Amino acid sequence: MTSEVKVLIDELASRHTLSPDGYEQLIERRTPEAAEHLAKRADAVRREIYGNTVFVRGLIEISNICKNDCLYCGIRASNRNVERYRLDPDTIVACACDGWEYGYRTIVLQGGEETTYYSDDVLCYVIERIIKACPDTAVTVSMGERGRASFQRLYDAGATRYLLRHETANKEHYERLHPSSMSFEHRMQCLRDLRDIGYQVGAGMMVGSPFQTTRHLVDDLVFIETFKPDMVGIGPFIPHHDTPFADEPAGTLELTLYLLSIIRLIHPRVLLPATTALGTIDPLGREKGVQAGANVVMPNLSPVAVRKQYELYDNKICTGDESAVCRGCLARRMAKVGYEVVVDRGDIAGL
Ligand code: SAH
Repeated sequence: MTSEVKVLIDELASRHTLSPDGYEQLIERRTPEAAEHLAKRADAVRREIYGNTVFVRGLIEISNICKNDCLYCGIRASNRNVERYRLDPDTIVACACDGWEYGYRTIVLQGGEETTYYSDDVLCYVIERIIKACPDTAVTVSMGERGRASFQRLYDAGATRYLLRHETANKEHYERLHPSSMSFEHRMQCLRDLRDIGYQVGAGMMVGSPFQTTRHLVDDLVFIETFKPDMVGIGPFIPHHDTPFADEPAGTLELTLYLLSIIRLIHPRVLLPATTALGTIDPLGREKGVQAGANVVMPNLSPVAVRKQYELYDNKICTGDESAVCRGCLARRMAKVGYEVVVDRGDIAGL
């Protein structure tokens, strides 16, 4: 590792910020030794705050029906080869109750963007039922962009967290990944509205998405530094065969891990998942993610019957396992590398 990169890492660890040029150098001039040094610093910081614990979030993929046409996503509206589904409230609540039994105290309701069936009334009804049925459980919603009034209603119904990845903090790049019906400004406005309302907010981006440059990643890091999301979900872009990006290369494990460590140092208390996409590009991706500074994993709680239909990218893992199996498998995987999955709501430290 050149001494310049080491200086940048040490500066980031002590000051939690670098100049945009500093971030660019840190990324561009990375070496395997630099990555190792960075991961050690990141792991030390996460241990100071969260010890060796790993929080679990039970992910329920409630619908793959989507009105949007994001160019990277397998469930985009124009993909005619997807068998569409949505889970009804009873099924969702049953999945959440299963999760409670397995020790999850956070449920994430994720799905394509649609307000026809999943109107505010229906979502509020589901949220209220989960809260009644599952004591001390935090409900997270991840259903894309909605209006501020809608976000407010879900919050009033009891959802306290919202996960909406910003996808990229660079407007031009955003416009190359999304159809013209979607706007960068609106996505960012949603994130500000969610924060204003009082949600714990999750943002995040794909690593190695088409057209992404180091400068775009620098914009993402500056955004994370200034907005300080409570959670940052990052994972490699992985092509899906039925999208315009079918032939684009996937993002790498190596760069994703490096960015996880950088994000931990920028925002020490952040909730940082080792994502399913990371586990998809490498059989030990999630373990490596946690060793690089991540402290959250999100096992799947969806009914096995629909798992394959929520195919955002090719070869997604864990589509055949029963929920109980997923939970046990992840706990064992984490224990093997010295971390402990805990029964906890998993709020951000210092809340
Ligand atoms: N409709 C919701 C949920 C989207 S799916 C929303 O808009 O927030 C959750 C995340 O999966 C997305 O935010 C995106 O970052 C990621 N994703 C989608 N397609 C992907 C792909 N091909 N490779 C990797 N991640 C992908």
